[in-house]
Amino acid sequence: MNLSEYYNAVMELSHGIVITLDETGRIIHGNSRFEVVSGYLTSQIAGLDWFETCVDQRHRAKAKAEFAGIAERGRLSLMKGSLRTKDGRTVYIDWNMKPLFDSQRRLVSVLCVGQDVTAHVERQRKLMHEQDRLMALNKELSCLHAMNRIVANMDSDLPDILHEILALIPPSFQYPEFTGVRLVLDGHSLFSGQYAPEAHSRMEQSVMVHKVKRGHLSVSLQGATQDGISHAFLPTECELLSALAKHVGWIITKREAMDTKRNLERQLQHADRLAKIGQFAAGVAHELNEPLANILGFAQLAAQTPDLPSQVSRDLDNIVKSALHSREIIKKLMIFGRQVPLQKSMVDMNQVIRDTLYFIETGAARNNIGIHLDLSEDLPDIMGDPQHLKQVMVNLMVNAIHAMPDGGTLTIRTLSFNHDVYLLVEDSGVGMETEVLRQIFNPFFTTKDSDQGTGLGLAVVHGIVSAHGGIIDVVSEPGRGTRFEITFPCADPASAAQD
Ligand code: ADP
Ligand code: MG
Repeated sequence: MNLSEYYNAVMELSHGIVITLDETGRIIHGNSRFEVVSGYLTSQIAGLDWFETCVDQRHRAKAKAEFAGIAERGRLSLMKGSLRTKDGRTVYIDWNMKPLFDSQRRLVSVLCVGQDVTAHVERQRKLMHEQDRLMALNKELSCLHAMNRIVANMDSDLPDILHEILALIPPSFQYPEFTGVRLVLDGHSLFSGQYAPEAHSRMEQSVMVHKVKRGHLSVSLQGATQDGISHAFLPTECELLSALAKHVGWIITKREAMDTKRNLERQLQHADRLAKIGQFAAGVAHELNEPLANILGFAQLAAQTPDLPSQVSRDLDNIVKSALHSREIIKKLMIFGRQVPLQKSMVDMNQVIRDTLYFIETGAARNNIGIHLDLSEDLPDIMGDPQHLKQVMVNLMVNAIHAMPDGGTLTIRTLSFNHDVYLLVEDSGVGMETEVLRQIFNPFFTTKDSDQGTGLGLAVVHGIVSAHGGIIDVVSEPGRGTRFEITFPCADPASAAQD
């Protein structure tokens, strides 16, 4: 066997890919393993440039440079490379290359022996990808975990909570120092980091609360790598933003539900307290009623005695007047404590308003107050006591007139919605501070001089509205005015018949 035959036999027996290139990189020979992997027949590509034929354009310049280096170094070299197959696939190969010289030490060819490591490279890539994914997941989880810790202590205001949460977001992104966050909620913006609306990379996710879009969460990414390529978001970061936007929506939902609950609790406590005061007041009133009736009766009887000295007659008159006044107060306390039975019938609230206005109009005009009526034309009747309901209107209107010493507008509106009748009494008067607002339904609470108010007007209103199964709400702003909103359940003909 001559050397060439021996050499060919070794090439064929080798498990690896074996090729021989000339000193310029042209293909001299390839073994059968090469043919199997590349899809080429050596006889077809012998003489062609290796790099043009079998190396992907992206890797060509680098491969050529390394090849030139081997010739220069003149010894065995290891190198990682790739091979583009006839049908365009990329096969990754670890090459061992040996330059071969003639007797004058001139490079004649390069012997390349390679191992197909594609499966290994792909496994490694998958692992790296998996590692990236786990790292992103880890960041996401720690961010969400930190958010949950903030949410667990929800006592601060919502904007403060949201600020804390936004501050957690940049650190969970790849380039925290270049990442800016903006949250737009109900038209208001909150920021964290250097948010850049003009940034090259920017993404946005809607913030939904109860399936309603309330705003959006945006992230911007500025800056560039050393090669001048602009920073870009990772695919996992798009997912992270979507998870964060969902979480922010959830936090807002939870927080608002808590606020509603607290408000309801407060209202319930208030109603409960008023009911207790009512019980107490009505108890006292009830006890005083009988002795008072005696005082009144005996005074009236005594006043009828003939030939009374005029001073005694005047004194008895005063006793009668005071007793009548006390009886009024007792009656009001009984109404507040809901101890006065209602004389119910079907009542048209619009009619009640018109009847009451009759008494009020003159006083209003004298005080330079315009009355604006906006009464719903198809207002359903309610089941109620017309006299008591008139009392409600009188008390609210008198208060409104008192609240507008320099004139203004008194607006009275009725409307119906969902089987309820709404009555709104609004003035453009002095309004109330929160501290006053808190106490207005308490009996004897007044800010007026004793000749103008006893502080029983709104207590009576509250008693009557509650006895009708209604709800009363007040909105007031100092210097702007006050609106009383009363809701009465509409009379259901079936239950009305039962009544
Ligand atoms: P009174 O009118 O006898 O003071 P009320 O129970 O009718 O008692 O009202 C209690 C207090 O509520 C009033 O003293 C006043 O301070 C406040 N108030 C009631 N209605 C109004 C209103 N429309 N505008 C401003 N303050 C009001
Ligand atoms: Mg009053």
